[in-house]
Amino acid sequence: MSKMSEHLLEIDDRRFLWHPFTQMAEWEEETPLVIEHGEGAVVYDIHGREYLDGVSSLWVNAHGHRHPTIDEAIRRQLDAIAHSTLLGLANVPSVQLARKLVEITPHHLTRVFFSDNGSTAVEIALKMAFQFQQQTGETQRTQFVSFHNAYHGDTIGSVSVGGIDLFHATYKPMLFKSLKAQYPYCYRCYLGKSYPECELACRESIEEILAKNHENVAAVIIEPLVQGAGGMVTSPPGFLSLVRDLCNRYGILLILDEVATGFGRTGRMFALEHEGVEPDFLCLAKAITGGYLPLAATLTTDQVYQAFCGEYSEFKTFFHGHSYTGNPLACAAALANLEIFEKEKTLDHLKEKIDFLGKLLESVKDLPHVGDIRRSGFMVGIELVKDRATREPYPYAEKIGAGVCLKCREKGVILRPLGNVVVLMPPLCITHEQLEKLVEVTTWAIGEITS
Ligand code: PLP
Repeated sequence: MSKMSEHLLEIDDRRFLWHPFTQMAEWEEETPLVIEHGEGAVVYDIHGREYLDGVSSLWVNAHGHRHPTIDEAIRRQLDAIAHSTLLGLANVPSVQLARKLVEITPHHLTRVFFSDNGSTAVEIALKMAFQFQQQTGETQRTQFVSFHNAYHGDTIGSVSVGGIDLFHATYKPMLFKSLKAQYPYCYRCYLGKSYPECELACRESIEEILAKNHENVAAVIIEPLVQGAGGMVTSPPGFLSLVRDLCNRYGILLILDEVATGFGRTGRMFALEHEGVEPDFLCLAKAITGGYLPLAATLTTDQVYQAFCGEYSEFKTFFHGHSYTGNPLACAAALANLEIFEKEKTLDHLKEKIDFLGKLLESVKDLPHVGDIRRSGFMVGIELVKDRATREPYPYAEKIGAGVCLKCREKGVILRPLGNVVVLMPPLCITHEQLEKLVEVTTWAIGEITS
């Protein structure tokens, strides 16, 4: 690419694009980093500069960029057909993928509904849960229970069950109400207690909400083990199964949003495996295609599925679908992604890398402005604080997390923060050497920005 076209891209980006979750007035003042190609855990910009992809291109990449198996699967599918609809027709890779997803998830999940992204996977679970209750005589079950600090996507339904004021408060008048329980954020425990002595006292929040409202609740939705966008907030062992038990007690459906945690991120294929929890709905997206193409899946049980079956004139149909539902290219990529997990024994190799990352992070713990390091497998949140003793946060407007991430770029590492939390979520294929670089550069940048 000539210098001239590189420059033009940088200008046109600022002229024509509107970037997500971005203050565009500030963006326009800076020269954007324009990515041109990638290889494994590394991406390159239009000037040929190399960067470690420390957040897996926003939590989606699994086995690296340009993995030959996925590249080849997409090319092969292109030679057959790029897209054909699932409305009134079936297509080869979506059938194969549905079977595969049913095989690798808990045995009672038997049906797959495809869509395009994490938000739609959640919308579908919410609408199915609502309609299920309506069609099984539980017409008073119209409410949802979700968690403070939760993030389930940006469409109106998923925002309604979200709990991050910064993102969600503006839209309140547009949203349906959901009852909000406390998620265990141990570093900033709302009860002022410490784990494990607390014996999960925060369970009282969801227990009380359900005890009081259970007759009207259609479903509980939760991010299992880790609230991702809420700041990589990890819940202590037992919390997830406790939520499942409560749902069982009151006949409430459980929706697990594994959009971020799915496909190896926590060290297991799915986070639910850590506690053997069986949900009524499982929402998958992000790494489902190994980070190649937009695709999502909402899995559910035969019990839910059967409630939608009947004569056409009964109108029990799930009237929902998207133009690209079950897109063959994306499904082919997803099949190849799962094939790599099997052939390369990705999860077996990951165990050792997760331990290694844990050891590397030991040294970060003692930095003067690191308040907390939370981690589940390859999902890491480093919470920076103004004062370690009092846990006083940096004012949001100081953009301390963003400052650290920008600094990292000087040494060839791409990160993206969540407020004061620096997030590391490398691709599963990252090497030991690259993990060392990731933590080394992050440590350096935290030192530079907070000192
Ligand atoms: N659910 C969770 C837990 C997420 O982390 C995200 C995105 O970060 C979403 C849903 C929304 O996914 P998407 O951005 O693909 O709509």
